[in-house]
Amino acid sequence: MSELKNNIGNSKGHLMTESKDSKIADCIVERLENFFKDHPRPVELHGPVFDGNEEKYVRECVVTRWVSSAGAFVGKFEQMLAEYTGSPYAVAVTNGTVALHMALLLAGVERGEEVLIPSLTFVATANAVSHAGAIPHLCDVSETTLGLDPVKLADWLDEIGEKRDGKVFNRLSGRAIGAIMPMHAFGHPVQLDELSAIAEKWGLPLVEDAAESLGSFYKGRHTGTISGIAALSFNGNKTVTTGGGGALLIRDPELAKKAKHLTTTAKKPHAYRFIHDDVGYNYRMPNINAALGVAQMERLERFLERKRQLVAEYQRLFADLADCKLFVEPSYAKSNYWLNCLILQGEQAIFDQTCLESIFERLAEKDIQTRPFWEPMHKLPMYESCPSMPLSVSESLNSRTVCIPSGPGL
Ligand SMILES: *Cc1c(COP(=O)(O)O)cnc(C)c1O
Repeated sequence: MSELKNNIGNSKGHLMTESKDSKIADCIVERLENFFKDHPRPVELHGPVFDGNEEKYVRECVVTRWVSSAGAFVGKFEQMLAEYTGSPYAVAVTNGTVALHMALLLAGVERGEEVLIPSLTFVATANAVSHAGAIPHLCDVSETTLGLDPVKLADWLDEIGEKRDGKVFNRLSGRAIGAIMPMHAFGHPVQLDELSAIAEKWGLPLVEDAAESLGSFYKGRHTGTISGIAALSFNGNKTVTTGGGGALLIRDPELAKKAKHLTTTAKKPHAYRFIHDDVGYNYRMPNINAALGVAQMERLERFLERKRQLVAEYQRLFADLADCKLFVEPSYAKSNYWLNCLILQGEQAIFDQTCLESIFERLAEKDIQTRPFWEPMHKLPMYESCPSMPLSVSESLNSRTVCIPSGPGL
C-alpha cells in the first residue's frame, strides 16, 4: 500500500516537473527564435569575425614566405598579449592544450602527482594534466562563479591533505598533490583571492586555465596574471582566434625563458648547428597563425564591446523569467562574456532532461546553435575513476545549462 502511494506521489511529482520544465523550454525556444528571426543563418554559438587586417597580414606571410616557425608576427603577437594583459611575458604556442601542458611543467608538476581541477570544464584541462603524466583530482564548482569553489576546496584539503617533507599528500590515495588549476568558465573569473590563499596555505602552485578568458579582469587585473603562470587559447571559437593557437602568460623572467626554450625544441641558439639541451617540444606558434592573431588583437576591444551589448540585449530578453537566469559576471569581475548561458531552475534539482534536449534540438532545426555545459570530467570514461570530492553542483549545473549564441559578429 505504501509502495503504491509512493508511486502515485512520484508520478504526480514527475508530471508537474515536466509541465513546468517544458514551459521554460518552450519559452526559451520562442524567444531565441524571435530574437534571431532576421539574422542570417546559421546563428553560430561563437563564430570568428575577420573584419580588420586579417587578410592583409596573412597574405603578407604567404607573399614573403614567412609562414612557419620564424617570422615577425610571433614576437609582435606575444608583445600585444603581454601589453594587453599586463603580463610581463607571453609565449605563443600551437594551442591552448599544450599551453596548459607547458604551464603544469613550469609549475613543477611531476609524473604521478595529482592536480586539483574543476570537474566541470572542457576536457583539455584534464587532458593537459594527463599529458604531464599527472592525475586529475576533480573538484566541485560554485553556482555563483561556475568555477572552482574555494570553500569546498579548503574543506576538502583540510580533510584529505597532509603536509610531509615539504610536499602535500592526498591521504586517501597516498599520492602527492602538485598544483591547483582553476578555470575561468565561459570567461567569468573565479575567486582568485580565496584560491590563492588556499594555494599559499598548502604551498601549492596555482596555474590558471585562462583559455576562455582573454579580456576578463579579476578586481582590475587581467585573468591569467594573478597566478604567475597561465594558459590562453585562440581556437576558432574563442574570443580571439589564430585558427589554432594558445599562449602562456608568465610573470617570472627565468620561467618565461624556459618556456620559450622548451616550446621551441630546446634548441640552443646557433647559426647552423642543431644542439638541443633538453627533451623539448615543438609547440611554437607558426608565423601565419600569429599574423591572424595580431589582426584579431587589434579588434579585441571592439569584440568585447559588442559582446557586452549582446549581454544587455539578452538581459532584457530574459529579465522576466524567474526560472531561467542569464548568468552575469560575478560582482568583483569584468568578464569577456565569452559564452553566455542560461541557468534553468527546474521543479527539482535536476531539470527534466527531455525538455533540455528539446531546446537544443528545436533551435538546431532553426539553425540557431545552442549547447549544454560540458559533460563533467567524472562522467567521461577515462576520468571516471579519478580522485574526487563530492560533485553535486557540477552535476546539477550540467543538467540545466543552455549556452546561447555569443559571438562578436551577432
Ligand atoms: C579552449 C579551451 C582549452 C584549450 O583548447 P585548445 O583547443 O587546445 O586551444 C583549454 N581549456 C578550456 C577550458 C578551454 O575552453
